[in-house]
Amino acid sequence: MIILVINSGSSSLKYQVRDGDDVLAEGLVERIGEAEVPDHAAALDRVDGEVSAALGDRGIDAVGHRVVHGGERFSEPVLIDNEITRAIERLNPLAPLHNPAAVTGIRAITDKWPDMPQVAVFDTAFHRTLPEHAWRYAVPDELYRKFGIRRYGFHGTSHAFVARGAAELLGADTFTGVIAHLGNGASVTAVRDGESVDTSMGFTPLEGLVMGTRSGDIDPSILLFLLREGYTEQDLDTLLNRNSGLKGLAGTNDMRSVTEAADAGDHRAQRAIDVASYRLAKYVGGYHVAVGGAQALVFTAGIGENAAAFRTAVVGKLGALGLELDEARNGERSREARIISTEASAFPVLVVPTDEEAAIAEATAAVVGASQPAA
Ligand code: AMP
Repeated sequence: MIILVINSGSSSLKYQVRDGDDVLAEGLVERIGEAEVPDHAAALDRVDGEVSAALGDRGIDAVGHRVVHGGERFSEPVLIDNEITRAIERLNPLAPLHNPAAVTGIRAITDKWPDMPQVAVFDTAFHRTLPEHAWRYAVPDELYRKFGIRRYGFHGTSHAFVARGAAELLGADTFTGVIAHLGNGASVTAVRDGESVDTSMGFTPLEGLVMGTRSGDIDPSILLFLLREGYTEQDLDTLLNRNSGLKGLAGTNDMRSVTEAADAGDHRAQRAIDVASYRLAKYVGGYHVAVGGAQALVFTAGIGENAAAFRTAVVGKLGALGLELDEARNGERSREARIISTEASAFPVLVVPTDEEAAIAEATAAVVGASQPAA
């Protein structure tokens, strides 16, 4: 089944065309809203042109959309119809930057190819198994009932994909352990028997780890303090989402540059690595408890897969759990899922590459396959 995977942003559209593990085409349309690409329909026309050129006389069988927020309703990928599109739209207030773009992308496809099966794959869905003690904030219940304020968690498609990959590598039926997805956005998830039982991102993708430009956990009173000091809502949004994290600490959001600067003796860069690795190590300790004893710690995404020095910094703080990296294995460059700890480590440390597009395409093919009568 040939699947077009779409990741719509407010001003960009990323796509990949896959047939199983084969990537037949991929690309990115940027600056949607400007003269050359006035809207998502125009972006889609461009994608159609590029995809048709790559596929020849073959056609797309289905479209899979990455949707950031599935709220409390969506715990699995779903076949999209008008009611589902409206349900995703009703979640816009919870993900004001992301869900409106997904809805626009879905409607653009519906207009262009009315009979095309479309599937929504939600970033929050994997975390619908969180127990209430993990998703509840200690605030009055009214905030949950009135505004839906609770932990939702994100990066679920990646965490689920990596949990399956880790189980496979370990020869286990299901995965129990801790997964650190460390990209520009970063989150860590506690997985027990293949189900998410806690995760560091919360009501929004701002909570938790130190990220490229996001602060992760801070004392909420800092916001109140800054409001009283004259900061506006917009100032705070920009401060915490765009100017904090590695960028705030070290001046750049790119872990490669931070690592190189630290190696060259830059104290700010070293401090950023110390803060980020310590934060993650604390979460790993907590989640080791949450899962009732982890069977593995897994690193994934851009930093998790490639930044050996950062993995060393994190695992170096986890001696109390009995973890020990094999530095030769840790330093090897590879695209394969692999074990990077020593035999003596209390439980294995793994690198399992993530592939969100593959996961979305797989889920899309499964949903569409199940919805069609067998030939
Ligand atoms: P992602 O969002 O998953 O694409 O991850 C992006 C992050 O991965 C950026 O901070 C990159 O600097 C980081 N990254 C990618 N390759 C490397 C590398 N070889 N060493 C260190 N960081 C890397």
